[in-house]
Amino acid sequence: MKADLHCHSHFSDGKHTPEALVQRATEVGLTHLAITDHDYLHATSKLPASDSVQLIPGVEISCQWENQEIHVVGLCLDVTDRSLNALLERQQQARRERMAAMDAKLQKIGIVGLAEFVAQLPAQAVTRSHVADFLVTEGHSKSLQKAFKRYIGKRGKAYVPAQWHSLDDVVAAITMANGIAVLAHPGRYPLSKSKLDTLVKDFHQAGGEALETNYGNVDPDEQKRLQDLAIHHKLYMSQGSDFHDSAAHWTDLGKFPPLNTQAKKNAIWLHPRWHSS
Ligand code: AMP
Ligand code: MN
Ligand code: MN
Ligand code: MN
Repeated sequence: MKADLHCHSHFSDGKHTPEALVQRATEVGLTHLAITDHDYLHATSKLPASDSVQLIPGVEISCQWENQEIHVVGLCLDVTDRSLNALLERQQQARRERMAAMDAKLQKIGIVGLAEFVAQLPAQAVTRSHVADFLVTEGHSKSLQKAFKRYIGKRGKAYVPAQWHSLDDVVAAITMANGIAVLAHPGRYPLSKSKLDTLVKDFHQAGGEALETNYGNVDPDEQKRLQDLAIHHKLYMSQGSDFHDSAAHWTDLGKFPPLNTQAKKNAIWLHPRWHSS
């Protein structure tokens, strides 16, 4: 079992097609792959079944919890579920509206062309990553980091706050679609230890069933702490690279510390509703 249960295709802010992701997954020897695009569910359903890699239906949904943006990965979902699809449609609409508002702010400071740039992308869920790509391509920023800092990050000139569904609604929609809700990269939120504990409690109470304890560049202490947290709250453990782009050489499919022997006893693939598509 070698599973990567978190990555992005060009239907959100990844750089590669789902076919290329499956190809790469085969090259690095993965047995299972979940493509978890931001607020978009259908990357995997468009692919033919692969002999070498089992595909797990997945999504990563942005949500709101106490003024903090939290990401929840949903795995093993029924991709035809109506309410989940309706919720994702609303999130994609919110993303388009946010994009238009960022475009208006950029135009006010003399930067034009964002709408045209975005219109020619394959993305079904448009993100600030695409805005950053635009700003770099057009020579307004030297790097994606700088584009976030100067323009679209919280203190940027063209920053527009996001309007996401609540954590409770997102976890409920995933669970109602027969999926398993996983709290994504818990160590990446700017939360104190006690606040993270409250988040995990709330997530569990909402019906969340797993923590992503093993992900790209998680540090070993953090990983140990997350495993303890998962055990304490009786949650399954999940793993994934959060891979977006092969040009970013520090990330790749399958690149994250594996679950240790103890963690494997609570691995998400032991969940009763675990299945591939
Ligand atoms: P959004 O969901 O539209 O707010 O876009 C956020 C996406 O932008 C994330 O999924 C990351 O892939 C990317 N991102 C966020 N912050 C940064 C940053 N500082 N530098 C580069 N990419 C970032
Ligand atoms: Mn992303
Ligand atoms: Mn995320
Ligand atoms: Mn992600």
